[in-house]
Amino acid sequence: MDRVVLRPGRERSVLKRHPWIFSGAIDTVKSSSAEGPVEVFSAAGERLGAGYLSPASQIRVRMVPEDTIENLVASAVGRRASFFADGYTTAVRLVNAESDGLPGVVADCYCGFVVCQFTSAFAERHKDEIAAALMKYDPFCLGVSERRDCDAREKEGLATGPAFSVLLGEEPPDAIEICEGQVKFLVDVRSGHKTGFYLDQRDARALVGPFANGREVLNCFSYTGGFGLFARACGASKVVQVDASAGALALAKRNEALVHMCGTEMEYVEADVFRFLRECRDRGRSFDMIVLDPPKFAASKSQVMRAARGYKDINLLAMKLLRKDGILATFSCSGAIGAELFGKIVAEAAEDAGRDFQIVAHTRAGHDHPVMLSFPEGEYLKGLVLRAV
Ligand code: SAH
Repeated sequence: MDRVVLRPGRERSVLKRHPWIFSGAIDTVKSSSAEGPVEVFSAAGERLGAGYLSPASQIRVRMVPEDTIENLVASAVGRRASFFADGYTTAVRLVNAESDGLPGVVADCYCGFVVCQFTSAFAERHKDEIAAALMKYDPFCLGVSERRDCDAREKEGLATGPAFSVLLGEEPPDAIEICEGQVKFLVDVRSGHKTGFYLDQRDARALVGPFANGREVLNCFSYTGGFGLFARACGASKVVQVDASAGALALAKRNEALVHMCGTEMEYVEADVFRFLRECRDRGRSFDMIVLDPPKFAASKSQVMRAARGYKDINLLAMKLLRKDGILATFSCSGAIGAELFGKIVAEAAEDAGRDFQIVAHTRAGHDHPVMLSFPEGEYLKGLVLRAV
């Protein structure tokens, strides 16, 4: 088989079971082509394992467990069986990339319709096999489709169009209705963000919802309604949903009708959250609960400083708008900003706001987004639920 030999000392991260090998760690590539399966050796000639060569990526080799694609998919799907058991949700991540031994493969299931993103040469090459295995091992699977319009594909030199296509089985409807407990959502898997929905915030939505009872809630970066609809279902007196995307808000309005709870006044604002928060401050508006679930501010380590300023800005503004005993649920999905740094940024914002907060809870992505212990890069989402005292 083709082989990759690492520079002296660079076998260390592979021995620690980290799945990525960057180009700088590689001494020689003895391969007939720029892409394909390889065996990885240390400079001293020790065989370290099997990998897959990416021609256009900074991550030249991704380590792959020495097993069949079918077995790897079957294991990943099998691990999620308990998610469907209690009927709480009909939308689950079935494959979480490197952390399920399938580098660059994400598969999210929405009520039987599985939507994948393939963001490595390995994933792209094996997508038909992966789709067939998903169909075979997910007992609820009606069809498997693919989203190609993601930045990660561009970085890997993979084609980004057409944005959506069916690989196997049935064509999904324009809007798929999923549930999270009592709350239902319509998911647009063709043009919604990621594969259509932020499944990673499922546990946080459930945790934060009950705090909204009887309260006036500002849900910033609402997307299709997420936290705001949980607040409505939990008896909030008012919910203001703010997002820059008109399409997301249009779906949020349709989702509102699916929550059988009257008495919550709903307001939708298409605006930039940074600007909206300043307007609220200038007009002296206040809230009992604020959710901040922004998009990724730092795409890489080089953007950490700028992103930190962005997080501090919105958190400081939100803290000033909170009434006494108010709840702030604040999140960051920037992998480059760890939980500790995020906590520091939020603490600095509180200091500048001149207010005391209790930490009520820490959050992370749900159990269907497991992270391999040897792969800290897989841990990106963190959140804090705070109470202003
Ligand atoms: N909380 C949501 C997910 C939020 S995703 C859920 O539970 O489903 C982040 C959202 O922020 C996206 O909908 C995006 O349209 C929106 N967004 C990005 N930048 C924004 C900005 N500057 N102002 C307002 N919304 C923004």
